[in-house]
Amino acid sequence: DKKTSLTKFTINDVVRSGLLVPSSDIGVYAGDEECYYLFRDVFDPITKECHGINEIPVHISNLDPRSLTSVIKNKAPIRSTRCRVVRNLAGYGFPAGISRENRLEVEGILETALEDLEGDLNGQYHPYDTLTGSEKQNMIMSGYLFRVLDTYMSAGAGIGRDWPEGRGIFYNNAKTFLAWVNEEDHLRIISMQKGANVEQVFDRLCRGINAINKALLKQAQTEFAFHKQYGYLSSCPTNLGTGMRASVHMHIPNTLTESQFKNRCCKLGLDVRGRHGEKCDSDGGVYDVSNLQRLGSTEVEQVQTLVDGINSI
Ligand code: ADP
Ligand code: MG
Repeated sequence: DKKTSLTKFTINDVVRSGLLVPSSDIGVYAGDEECYYLFRDVFDPITKECHGINEIPVHISNLDPRSLTSVIKNKAPIRSTRCRVVRNLAGYGFPAGISRENRLEVEGILETALEDLEGDLNGQYHPYDTLTGSEKQNMIMSGYLFRVLDTYMSAGAGIGRDWPEGRGIFYNNAKTFLAWVNEEDHLRIISMQKGANVEQVFDRLCRGINAINKALLKQAQTEFAFHKQYGYLSSCPTNLGTGMRASVHMHIPNTLTESQFKNRCCKLGLDVRGRHGEKCDSDGGVYDVSNLQRLGSTEVEQVQTLVDGINSI
């Protein structure tokens, strides 16, 4: 009978997507921050398993790009690099639990904070329903924009309620710094560019996170939802901790078959996805390779895992 106080989320709400769509990888979503405490017995074992940890330690963050100790070697067959973090605003329900009114409030707060950014981060917010069909299609195919929600998120978890109202995308002129509003989480902060320059991509991400944080504090006295052990709180437990996925789009080296490549990646703590993201196939032999762990290490360590893994492959 337990219910969270903010969004009245029950254990039934938490597991609904997994029950309705048994092919789900994880199958649980948090409707708000309190879900992680109230339904700890369900979340903790899943969280430990997907991050490969036995205990949940105190979370330590390191957003200093100067701490990286090496970079991706020139020879690596890499087309592009992307780093994103997931964030939610403290005090609001997460997308699975939030009300329509509060979702619009979150959109407003984030739009103002994002449009406050300066220098190379400066850009504009575009509500989803102001984009034309072909603009959306082009941005999806170029890897900039989220796709229409899959059944995992929409049917089961309720993340797609009132779609697409309250959703949108922010980007700078060069489309190297972007943010998604009210997709699976309130905010996804994204830094990406062609080539393999991970330091540049990570540096831009770190500056973006700090600047948005500052803008939120100044404007709305709001902070990102954070817990000293779970780290940055996310809708899906796979994103707890840093909330970061650092990825490269790469060709499989000539010396490896696809299954050898996937095996190598798995042993190196790396996740392999298709070129168009989670649950998509490869396209033209290009794969998305990223850090698998987000809780139990710092952002710098996770980027370093990607760099070292790619270099060793
Ligand atoms: P996430 O949920 O981590 O944001 P998805 O797997 O849903 O990521 O992918 C989101 C989009 O980002 C997809 O369109 C994908 O093609 C794009 N993307 C991911 N990594 C890269 C990369 N290294 N270079 C270019 N685009 C990328
Ligand atoms: Mg996704």
